[in-house]
Amino acid sequence: MTNQNPFEVAQKQLDDCAQILKLDSSTHAILRVPMREFHVSLPVRMDDNSIKVFQGFRVQYNDSRGPTKGGIRFHPDETIDTVRALAAWMTWKCALLNLPLGGGKGGVICNPKEMSLGELERLSREYIRALNPFIGPDKDIPAPDVYTTPQIMIWMMDEYSKIYAKNQFGVITGKPIGLGGSTGRADATARGGMYAIHEAAKVLGIDLSKATVAVQGFGNAGSNAARLCKELFGCKVVAVSDSQGAICDDECLDVEAVCECKLDTCSVVNLPNAKCISNEEILELEVDILIPAALENVVTEKNAPNVKAKIVAELANGPTTPEADAILYKNGVHVIPDFLCNAGGVTVSYFEMVQNSYMYSWDEQQVYTSLEKKMVEAYHSVLNTSKEYNLNMRQAAYVLAVKRVVEAMKLRGWV
Ligand code: NAD
Repeated sequence: MTNQNPFEVAQKQLDDCAQILKLDSSTHAILRVPMREFHVSLPVRMDDNSIKVFQGFRVQYNDSRGPTKGGIRFHPDETIDTVRALAAWMTWKCALLNLPLGGGKGGVICNPKEMSLGELERLSREYIRALNPFIGPDKDIPAPDVYTTPQIMIWMMDEYSKIYAKNQFGVITGKPIGLGGSTGRADATARGGMYAIHEAAKVLGIDLSKATVAVQGFGNAGSNAARLCKELFGCKVVAVSDSQGAICDDECLDVEAVCECKLDTCSVVNLPNAKCISNEEILELEVDILIPAALENVVTEKNAPNVKAKIVAELANGPTTPEADAILYKNGVHVIPDFLCNAGGVTVSYFEMVQNSYMYSWDEQQVYTSLEKKMVEAYHSVLNTSKEYNLNMRQAAYVLAVKRVVEAMKLRGWV
């Protein structure tokens, strides 16, 4: 893991794309920075009756294709530059999947692991009170991300609805199914990644029923990925990790038992009889598929030469640095880039918005079929572009996405 600034990484990726597309300098300059960002101070009454002031952010990167959309992260190491990078990647993601949405992101510097439910609820409501004039179903629609949950989404939706004195389900996605959520949203990020992995395996001639998998990060994206790899394809999940460390079993981990262990003890490392390895080692294991599903900058120029996986499926945002990207490409590793691989989350969030807007719910099959169609189309358009222009998969995804955003800006007369 390096401390590389994620926004500088995002800008460098865009700069490369601007060169490939020969973008004019004004268009490039507009796309290099967010259109709008908000910095808010959030005073929250803590359980001991003191008031603590948290710092929160919301970045609306580009709304040329539609209202901005993107998750809210609660994390002690959150920075404005992480939020800017994530908002930029959301812009490219929504464009790549051809959703009528722009890109945004939010964050609060806090440690949810050290907060009570009551404190988390008050912080979530305060975030919405501070930002309500700038978000809304047709302006900017948040969703869950690292350390934010469906319950947090409901508190936020409820606060927004109270302010506007009417139910506003469409202001936020990732809600529980019992209150405006969509079936299939809970594991949509991982499931979308599975559809992309399935296509990649066909292209590379990998038999998924015999494939081995390592998953770094065991939250919403990672734990569902481990479960679905086994459930959908019969893959052998041989290693998983979380913030406390990693475990492995050359034969195959019992994913259900790992999920139970994480639920009961808050970490995968407490699985009885599991062999513990480090969070660095998991990235270099001899596996067919490596799924980074935690945070940014974990595959770097230092460890990229040691990555042995045939496919790196980036469920996390920004796990690979630009230097590492070049090394993986040279070594023939097939990278399914983040804003393609993890686009299942925002795609089903978009389906949730659609269902909320006409007060109807789709069944599971409709969600899965629609998601698969979107993911398979996006994967092959990226693959074809990479072949046509001799680009790596990330550069190809950028070319497609940036072209669509530029087209919208031109049609609006912004450039
Ligand atoms: P989460 O909060 O549910 O889980 C995060 C997981 O990462 C936890 O298991 C945590 O222990 C682990 N982790 C934290 N630091 C780690 C470290 N240093 N090493 C190993 N593991 C570590 O979050 P999530 O929603 O699963 O998000 C994970 C990644 O997926 C993020 O990059 C996020 O932006 C991305 N993502 C999530 C969604 C979504 O719908 N949830 C959608 C798109 C992208």
